[in-house]
Amino acid sequence: MTRDFPEQIPNWIAGRQVPAAAGQWGAKLSPHHGRRISEFASSTADDVATAVAAAKEAQADWAAIPAVKRGNILLDVALALRANAELVACIVAAETGKSPKEALGETIGAVQQGLFMAGEGMRLYGRTTTSAVANKHAMTVRCPIGVAGLIIAANTPIANVAWKVFPALICGNTAILKAPEDAPATAWIFGKIAAEAGLPRGVLNVVQGFGPEAGGALVAHPDVAVISFTGSTAVGRRIAGVAGDRLARLSLELGGKNAFVVCEDADLDKAVEWAVLSAFSNAGQRCAAGSRLIVFDAVYDEFRAKLIARTAKLNVGATDSDDCGPVINGRQLSNMLAAVGRAKAAGATVLCGGDRFTDEERAAGFYMQPTIVEGLAADAEMSICELFGPIAALYRVPGYAEAIALANSSPYGLTAAIHTRDFDRAMRFVAAMDTGVVTVNGGTYGSEPHMPFGGSKQSGNGSREPGTEALDVYSSLKDVYLLVSPHA
Ligand code: NAD
Repeated sequence: MTRDFPEQIPNWIAGRQVPAAAGQWGAKLSPHHGRRISEFASSTADDVATAVAAAKEAQADWAAIPAVKRGNILLDVALALRANAELVACIVAAETGKSPKEALGETIGAVQQGLFMAGEGMRLYGRTTTSAVANKHAMTVRCPIGVAGLIIAANTPIANVAWKVFPALICGNTAILKAPEDAPATAWIFGKIAAEAGLPRGVLNVVQGFGPEAGGALVAHPDVAVISFTGSTAVGRRIAGVAGDRLARLSLELGGKNAFVVCEDADLDKAVEWAVLSAFSNAGQRCAAGSRLIVFDAVYDEFRAKLIARTAKLNVGATDSDDCGPVINGRQLSNMLAAVGRAKAAGATVLCGGDRFTDEERAAGFYMQPTIVEGLAADAEMSICELFGPIAALYRVPGYAEAIALANSSPYGLTAAIHTRDFDRAMRFVAAMDTGVVTVNGGTYGSEPHMPFGGSKQSGNGSREPGTEALDVYSSLKDVYLLVSPHA
């Protein structure tokens, strides 16, 4: 079999591929068939320290390259990613179980991110402004922060890499990317492509390994000046404690329990289509998944019938003709099965799905049936805890006020969507939702490289990535005052 990645996936440190110093490896299993497809370096604090030292050594030279030229180098990386898009997509598909077509779409999204951020090298705007003092000029300039620690989830692995690496580097930082243990080869191939495209040694280091050991050491390292984390709220909270204690800059992109509201005047067929995509695309493994479907009483029965019928038609598998694939690992699958069991025990009804697939083709993989649950209390475990899989809950509400109250009752505040033909109501929804993203007549998910993404409450700490707002995460502002002597 030709392989697109090594059987043992090493770290990239200072431009070289190296195993973990202790010689340990972790196993990566295929979500599709459950068998081992690779091993990744199980890095420890020693490996992280080596990577941080390499990044620290490379930082001054990288920052000294004018931002426009850094942008040119990153443009080469983005173009090389585009030239290798099919290969990268194969790796993403193998590691996540999503279809090759979906993996390619994600890869092209990562390229777009690179192209956008490379162009920021020509902007990196500060401000020029007035002064209260005659002959004094005031301005701000953007400065690198230093070494960036980047930790990501595996749900859209190549997009997640691009979201963090390109903005961190364009600002003049060097970086250590902690690869997700569920997508080690995706991070590895990005490191390879970047090195071959001419990124100087040590500017991007990729460390493989498990969260507490490798990720934890990165967060705790005193030379890592800025940490950007995409992952669960529970881990984000832990990271915030460690990073806060040493006053490191921190950006947290965390979980969601996103509301999808269907009003009595909605185009129900479109609403069903978007509800299914929001809940089940990428097997529900989106921070922005629509996991709470809140429907007005007047159309509830009709919407429910259409939703169940549409969900029953979903093809679940790993090919381009499938609508969604497996979840990323066995732990996730077990968590979901257990959560459905607890919801049922608490009196909820499973309208469809609720179990894993047990047919010959999918039984050994991590395939969860697209699941719809009804009859949950607003404060039930499944109503408030993120599951990160293809499970959505239906709620019946009398009208708008109750829909808003329920939608905002979540501890999370990432995204929300409403389906209505009433423009005024849509705009009231936009204003009322305590979330970082609101969509009218679309899905709860979807982001663009030039737009800031993030949430409120337990979905993050208020930072926004990507868009130009990501530059605020990865750069420091310096005030500059120029005093001239007009008579000199
Ligand atoms: P996770 O928090 O378990 O892991 C995410 C990353 O953190 C992994 O690389 C992991 O190795 C690392 N990690 C784990 N423990 C760590 C520790 N103690 N110190 C440092 N690093 C550690 O999350 P997951 O299950 O892999 O991903 C799913 C979560 O990510 C969901 O909650 C989802 O909503 C969230 N997510 C958020 C966004 C966003 O933009 N807001 C995007 C994608 C995913």
